[in-house]
Amino acid sequence: MNNTELVDDCLFCKIIKGNVPSYTVFENDDVKAFLDISQVTKGHTLLIPKKHLTNIFDYSQADAQRFLQYIPEVAQAIKKSDPNIKGLNICVNNGEVAGQVVMHSHIHLIPRYGDEDAISVPHVNNADDYDETRYQEVADAIKDNL
Ligand code: 5GP
Ligand code: ZN
Repeated sequence: MNNTELVDDCLFCKIIKGNVPSYTVFENDDVKAFLDISQVTKGHTLLIPKKHLTNIFDYSQADAQRFLQYIPEVAQAIKKSDPNIKGLNICVNNGEVAGQVVMHSHIHLIPRYGDEDAISVPHVNNADDYDETRYQEVADAIKDNL
């Protein structure tokens, strides 16, 4: 890791430097995975890059390859850690409006034990508001930027 990639006043950079303690589950030169303090469910883990990227809007393709490749490995280890884990939500909040509180990119890995787990993954269906034309317009607007 190159320490110049970290910033002083960031909570997760402090966790990377060891200035704030954490329960580490995986670490190498590129990423660190540690328990989220809130434990939405038991095993709730955060995977973070060891580079101060604010959120997904900061990632280059090289950053994505370097940092996000570890998601399956950590997810599979969480699943194996408890036979009662039936599924896993992977969530990322990008920007304040999307619920991001800590402004250092992090992937939430949240094990699901059953329907009673209190997680607010929105199951909203607005399909009635879309016809073929509107779907195509929305898809094209995104496609034009790739
Ligand atoms: P966000 O809302 O930004 O996606 O999530 C930030 C997460 O960081 C929250 O789930 C919160 O519980 C977690 N968090 C905040 N402070 C700490 C801390 O000091 N240590 C750990 N391990 N997690 C933290
Ligand atoms: Zn940071």
